[in-house]
Amino acid sequence: MASIIANIRVRRLRKRLTSVTLDVGLQSGANVNDWDIPDRLEEEVKERDKACVYCGVPMVDKMRPSGPRRSVATWEHIINNRYIITRENIARCCVACNSSKRTKKLSYWMHSSYCEKHGINKDTVAEVVKKALETEWG
Ligand SMILES: [Zn+2]
Repeated sequence: MASIIANIRVRRLRKRLTSVTLDVGLQSGANVNDWDIPDRLEEEVKERDKACVYCGVPMVDKMRPSGPRRSVATWEHIINNRYIITRENIARCCVACNSSKRTKKLSYWMHSSYCEKHGINKDTVAEVVKKALETEWG
């Protein structure tokens, strides 16, 4: 909770200061919202994606000392275009899925050995991912 409050404070600060060096200084963790996602959308997506949109693992905001690193939540652009900041394209997924998918096209990644190993396919993913797969960019 403290990290969320700190995060909001930092982002308010960012809105006032436009210094590029400050931005670079903030690139410190996977769960920091570096993508200029509006607060309202951020809250909405956090509320919706409590489990990874790809593999369905329940996620935590910050790694607990005993917890598995793979369940830490990260921000994801389902269609890999950082300029599409909509509730249809912004989602939360686990560290493991995020680092496997990276910049790959969604439908291409779905056929990877990672997805096969974790039983991830077009029928198991979250609704928001299914919808993205129906588009030409998915
Ligand atoms: Zn996952």
